[in-house]
Amino acid sequence: MDKTEVENYLLEEENKLQEQFRRIDQIAFYNQKKVLEAFTECKVSSQCFNGSSGYGYDDVGRDTLAKVYAKIFGGEKALVSPHLLCGTHAITTVLYGILRRGDIMLSVTGLPYDTIQESLFGKDNASLEDFGVVYKQIDLKENSEFDYEKITKFVSEYKPKVVYLQRSRGYSDRKALAPSDMKPLFEKIKSISPESLIVVDNCYGEFVDTIEPTNVGADVIVGSLIKNPGGGIAPTGGYVVGSEKAIDLVATRYTNPSLKLELGSFEMGYRLFYQGIFLAPHVVAQSLKGSLLVGQIMEDMGYKIIPSNDEKPQDIVKSVVFNTPKELIKFVQLVQTVSPVDGYVLPMPWEMPGYKDKVIMAAGTFVGGASIELSCDSPIRAPYIAYFQGGLTYEHVKMFAEKILLEMK
Ligand SMILES: *Cc1c(COP(=O)(O)O)cnc(C)c1O
Repeated sequence: MDKTEVENYLLEEENKLQEQFRRIDQIAFYNQKKVLEAFTECKVSSQCFNGSSGYGYDDVGRDTLAKVYAKIFGGEKALVSPHLLCGTHAITTVLYGILRRGDIMLSVTGLPYDTIQESLFGKDNASLEDFGVVYKQIDLKENSEFDYEKITKFVSEYKPKVVYLQRSRGYSDRKALAPSDMKPLFEKIKSISPESLIVVDNCYGEFVDTIEPTNVGADVIVGSLIKNPGGGIAPTGGYVVGSEKAIDLVATRYTNPSLKLELGSFEMGYRLFYQGIFLAPHVVAQSLKGSLLVGQIMEDMGYKIIPSNDEKPQDIVKSVVFNTPKELIKFVQLVQTVSPVDGYVLPMPWEMPGYKDKVIMAAGTFVGGASIELSCDSPIRAPYIAYFQGGLTYEHVKMFAEKILLEMK
């Protein structure tokens, strides 16, 4: 295709997507209001942007930010911190904070995300198993639905301390899960075992829908600030939102049993975190629209995409299934060529810490590795699936779409 053909082709593809675009705009508008209301109610002022040093007693910026998150995501309490290094650290902080020797953790969405797995199993490696926690899992059914029969049976029999769900699909080919689909499951679990705490890995899911898992009965949601809720602006960090009881347990592990959430300074200040969550509903919408456009192009070129463009997305990730590693690597490398940072380098598969297979990653991002910015990653294993996500502006993702047409079609 030449330049003019590409331009016309993109306009045609965009026309096909107008209905989805409108729906995404409506969700963003709803979530923007939700965020703004939380800011007002929690009395966010410019003083909240100031950092503190040392112990960080009475750090107003830190404490108000936590209140804002709790309000937005419908929890009683929150922990939001640059000292949570990433999503993995936030998730494991939650698990180690809640689970004790002899407790059972039941995952009802199969094996958790790659980087969590080492924290679950093993001897003398400080895994949960090493501390005497029993991990069990029930896989999703073929069509990505919960296996109600097995879950109900297990929960009645063993009353697990934690029931764990992963909303996004991670490196698998299942669908991301909607809070509305979680609701009946959560009601069921709570009716059989009220003491079980429901923990949801909400990575990539924030602001994709008008409700979050906490709005339908999850005790804890947890995620990364260099994904959706950081809005591409937060420099690092993670969040945990949930019931007071759950967050107090998590706080004992986040710091220790005597310090909990009372300490923690960040001299750089908190403006970027506030600005990030304020922008997040819009940025999420931009990335969702971009992923629809790229998805449409790949689908029209004959590739399978997950989720398909007729489905309502429940995370910001779009997967493209390739036939060979060569095509996959080419696609990931194309993302890098339209990146604002390191756009001149060629990513190659490498052994990344925390992952079993080699991973190829395009992340020419302002914030290191931020996947709310246009990025693409994939383990090099069959089926050859590229997972791409993010894009701070629709226009930027459209440039990627243009590049695909010029170089792959
Ligand atoms: C990204 C991600 C994680 C881990 O987050 P990191 O910030 O990369 O440590 C966990 N679960 C899911 C579903 C994710 O997408």
